[in-house]
Amino acid sequence: MSTLLDNTFAEPAPSPLLLLGQGRDLASERGVECTGELPAASDPDLVERARAARAALGSRAFVLGHHYQRDEVIDFADVTGDSFKLAREAAARPEAEFILFCGVHFMAESADILTSDAQQVVLPDLAAGCSMADMAAINQVEDAWDVLQDAGIADVTLPVTYMNSTAAIKAFTGRHGGTICTSSNAEVALRWAFDQVGGVDGTGKVLFMPDQHLGRNTALLKLGMSPTDCVVFDPRKPNGGLTDAELRDARMILWRGHCSVHGRFSERNVTDIRAAVPGVNVLVHPECKNEVVEAADYVGSTEYIIKMLDAAEPGSSWAIGTELNLVRRVARAHPDKQVHYLDSTVCFCSTMNRIDLPHLVWAMESLVAGRTVNRIVVDADDAHWARVALDQMLALPGL
Ligand code: SF4
Repeated sequence: MSTLLDNTFAEPAPSPLLLLGQGRDLASERGVECTGELPAASDPDLVERARAARAALGSRAFVLGHHYQRDEVIDFADVTGDSFKLAREAAARPEAEFILFCGVHFMAESADILTSDAQQVVLPDLAAGCSMADMAAINQVEDAWDVLQDAGIADVTLPVTYMNSTAAIKAFTGRHGGTICTSSNAEVALRWAFDQVGGVDGTGKVLFMPDQHLGRNTALLKLGMSPTDCVVFDPRKPNGGLTDAELRDARMILWRGHCSVHGRFSERNVTDIRAAVPGVNVLVHPECKNEVVEAADYVGSTEYIIKMLDAAEPGSSWAIGTELNLVRRVARAHPDKQVHYLDSTVCFCSTMNRIDLPHLVWAMESLVAGRTVNRIVVDADDAHWARVALDQMLALPGL
């Protein structure tokens, strides 16, 4: 036991968990140098300090709040939305000197890519990452492309990458002629991609990253493919764990990644809620596993979920399978409807919840004092190619 403790703070092993940090001091906040000026969460003046800092920044700052953020943070957001909507909102505010992004790292990267060089994007806590985005590292993706080349299929394969990915993966997608997609437009993006390689009924392929569930659900439910058209590429296994023949026969090559929040929902949750609440409408996010989506009544993005509840009949019952902060907010907004959480256990996105009021106050007060903290800057070459892929998405019909 003592040996284990003694070794705990010895030379740290390289870990993807530190990717978002600035250093390797494990005694600091997940490798992130947060300077010790962070206000205490118990500070009774915290809300007042936040109001004062926000007022002092005025129109120089624009605060974005993702739907999965805590209420204490959403209270200070100038606009709320999903990752794509927030990136567009940031791009539509060229007059804002600072974009305070209350979301996770890949979202702040997208905002930096879509805003001008004169604007600074700030992520209040650099430890706010995304477990799904972290499941596809750029070196793994480049190795995977080599595997496809060796199997003789790279020329007939187009990458399609979910918004929830690092800027480096988006840039890879742009360099290889692919597109980005969101949970709202995955069908349109996939149809466009297959059109570039011979059509949905042809023999071309898509490498879909990093969320295998969104890719599989869209292929099966929207494109009419069968499970045998899909293979899962595991970057931790030689050749992705697939034979060359399996790769050649596949239409959808799904990256082995998932959301640690939405991946928790099970078919059993759906069965249980239907037994407990007769007539309940089950509404889930497409990052859920295929068996959950198949068992549900409705599937769609966070924006879709919000609109469905807005349009629902008073008195109707809903069980929602997505992040808990959003579900609680939706429930509060609709006291005339019964809103249930699909999972019986608590299910926040832990990395989203890294952003809290102390971090937001610290970031805003630092800006007021003339010091930019936690700025997110994407490498110029990656930013260029990621922008190419994002622009391709913006050119798709329906956006
Ligand atoms: S909810 Fe899932 S996909 Fe979204 S930020 Fe959290 S881990 Fe990533």
